[in-house]
Amino acid sequence: MTTGPVLGCIADDLTGATDLGLTLSRGGLRVVQVTGVPEAGDLPGDADVIVVALKSRTVPAAEAVEMSLRAADMLLGAGARQLFFKYCSTFDSTDAGNIGPVAEALLGRLGAAIAVATPAFPTNGRTVFQGHLFVGRQLLSDSPMRDHPLTPMRDPNLVAVLGRQTRLPVGLIAFDAVERGREAIGEALARLAADGTRLAIVDALTDRHLVELGAAVAEAPLVTGGSGLAIGLPDAYRARGWVGPRAEARAAAIPPGRSAILAGSCSTATQKQVAAAERAGLATFRISPAEIAAGRQDAAQVLAWAGEQNSDRPVLVYSTAPPDDVTGAQASLGRERAAALVEETFAEIARGLVGRQGVTRLVVAGGETSGAVVTALGVKALEIGPEIDPGVPWTFSLSDPRMALALKSGNFGTDDFFLKAWDALP
Ligand code: ADP
Repeated sequence: MTTGPVLGCIADDLTGATDLGLTLSRGGLRVVQVTGVPEAGDLPGDADVIVVALKSRTVPAAEAVEMSLRAADMLLGAGARQLFFKYCSTFDSTDAGNIGPVAEALLGRLGAAIAVATPAFPTNGRTVFQGHLFVGRQLLSDSPMRDHPLTPMRDPNLVAVLGRQTRLPVGLIAFDAVERGREAIGEALARLAADGTRLAIVDALTDRHLVELGAAVAEAPLVTGGSGLAIGLPDAYRARGWVGPRAEARAAAIPPGRSAILAGSCSTATQKQVAAAERAGLATFRISPAEIAAGRQDAAQVLAWAGEQNSDRPVLVYSTAPPDDVTGAQASLGRERAAALVEETFAEIARGLVGRQGVTRLVVAGGETSGAVVTALGVKALEIGPEIDPGVPWTFSLSDPRMALALKSGNFGTDDFFLKAWDALP
């Protein structure tokens, strides 16, 4: 039906890419996700959507811009009508970047007047009201996001947060317009654009708001936001005849093998998931940056331990730790070194588990951690499969190593996620 993808997505981390892919696939679009900027020849020909997963959330802004522009050129070259710059539903970023600089660069590349920006994802408790982001019942700045290891969020006013990241004028499309629906949103957007506003934070409290927003921006060259912003796009494309009828996801065959969980997120949700797995009696191994730095822990030791465990049940390796431990490790090692030590260790553990211990089903908790693991495994393209919890599907690799991967953003999933994920596999 289409020649090339309708939508080209640029996601600033891997779990976020998967989350976006899932939303679009549930809307009946064929979604293929690639890790890193692909070569033109590596792009599948029959996808409605190509999601490029970058690891650009916490790199220096200039690097994030460069990677995102390369992805944009590739997607536009493949025929994408619209670009979607995807970031986290908690707007993870620092004042030094990267949401503002990347959005600014993409607007420039597309010659677009204005783009919307909303991280709202009501199903997961992320809502935006009067430009302020809430996580469940708490303002962003009162939520556990205030203590995130890499992007502590201490200001809930997104117009202000984004305004500190870009020279472009930032405005707001507030609840009253969004509540009135697509035409009112379109008019508000046109008014802001006429005044020279280039980025518009958009309020959204319900999925209905996002459906209206999707319909209002389906023809915009660029949209930016969390995966919730994708809720309204599939039907809006279908109404325009840009995509065919709803497509079923193709089930990929995954060879039998062992199961494992790698948790590098320190989010509250992941802490509870680790605790629940320990209570349920899974074999667990805790690694920490201090032990790794001191040379008392390494991947070889973890792999030797994993090889001795009962192969019928998943093993869990985690660096998940409460905020005090994280700040302690960061104070002595530096934030980046602590994170790098943990990520490199997880990468090597993943290579050993998959390459030598027959693991073909792997759950990874943490966006950065997932990025490190998938890169280490050399997994390039993933098809989006069945959903485990809101925002987290199983995915199937489309080349070697053939395996099932569930890449979980730290804060996602119910407490028993590590126990129940396996039931969702075909
Ligand atoms: P989330 O999805 O919750 O943000 P990420 O994996 O993206 O999780 O980010 C967590 C970061 O914290 C990673 O860079 C990880 O290496 C680092 N990290 C993990 N465990 C620890 C720890 N015990 N101390 C310090 N940093 C840690």
